[in-house]
Amino acid sequence: MDGNRTGGNERGGALHLSSILPALSASIGTPVATRVHRDPESLRRTLGFPQARSAIVVLVDGMGYWNINLRRGHAPYLRSLMGHSENQRPIATCAPSTTVAAMATFGTGTCPGMTGMAGYTERNPNTGGLCQLIQFRDAPGPEELQREPTVFELLAAKGVRVTSSGLPKFAFSPLTRAALRGTHYVSGGSPRQRVLNACKAAEEPGLIYLYIRDADKTGHNYGWHSDRWIAAFESIDAQLALLRRFAPKGTLIVITADHGMIQTDPEARIDVAEHGELGRGVALVGGEPRSVMLYAEPDEDPEAIAGRWRDFLGDRAEVRTKAEAIGQGMFGPVEERVEPVLGDVLVSAASRVTIVDSRTQSDAATRLPSVHGSLTHMESDIPCLIDMA
Ligand SMILES: [Zn+2]
Repeated sequence: MDGNRTGGNERGGALHLSSILPALSASIGTPVATRVHRDPESLRRTLGFPQARSAIVVLVDGMGYWNINLRRGHAPYLRSLMGHSENQRPIATCAPSTTVAAMATFGTGTCPGMTGMAGYTERNPNTGGLCQLIQFRDAPGPEELQREPTVFELLAAKGVRVTSSGLPKFAFSPLTRAALRGTHYVSGGSPRQRVLNACKAAEEPGLIYLYIRDADKTGHNYGWHSDRWIAAFESIDAQLALLRRFAPKGTLIVITADHGMIQTDPEARIDVAEHGELGRGVALVGGEPRSVMLYAEPDEDPEAIAGRWRDFLGDRAEVRTKAEAIGQGMFGPVEERVEPVLGDVLVSAASRVTIVDSRTQSDAATRLPSVHGSLTHMESDIPCLIDMA
């Protein structure tokens, strides 16, 4: 995704979530290329990953680079890692900065334009209605929607041992099958058990993936400014320190995230249902409160919708037609089969604005204290912290 340009910020290249697994494949001596990244060894050098016989990559859901930095007083292990010069740079997640899009970007080493996973909700091309991709509600089958091979599959095909340590309920979840398939999945009932399972797997050469959920979940429920979030963050820091302590000597550890989070402003909540001009010509409102995808009615010109939304929102959001977004590389290279799932108009919220639709979304879902999805640094900048056990 060289030259990828979003929100006026130069993003992409090697310093991107999609680079991590290809770069790690080079670290463990079995480089595998993806359709976006042809040279895993150069990604490895740019990201600064050393060579190792085994590597553990930890993805902490919702723990953005600036979220860590602004709360580092609560996290002695992460603080010590942040003190190393090679870790003092964020990398970028994909657009939209949301779990399903980022998980598939991470897992396949490609981009939402290739995986077809481009938002919390998006149009199901089979039905024309909206589908939700966390649970794949009303969605195409996971393997039908997401057709890129995962880096895990590519490594396993070369005989590399690939282990995933996670919650039992995610072992065969649709999201795992779509974005992260191809591992030997080891279920652990507690955070500590999952960390120890990852350490055990690292005794053999190979790649281990560990997922930690609670920063995201607690952030959505209570806000990342809350004491509850800080408590979750402290627990995550302790889990990561435990991993560092029990990982076999010589194991490469890389800590990343799928996106960060912002605190919302209830005064800056815009409800499409309350403003007739926003609903005009719009058949479906998809995406999420920070990254809205508008699907035009058949006889409507997306330019007209975009114009009305720009007039209404002013500097509260960036509005792009699909053609503009694709032209600017927002979703990376876009497959023809993926184009219909992308909104005809893409709206990226600024500062602390949220854009919701109370006609179709639950009241709680329209009032989350912390969210993500847009292009701000808080949401898009993610850690890529390197340690060696
Ligand atoms: Zn997430």
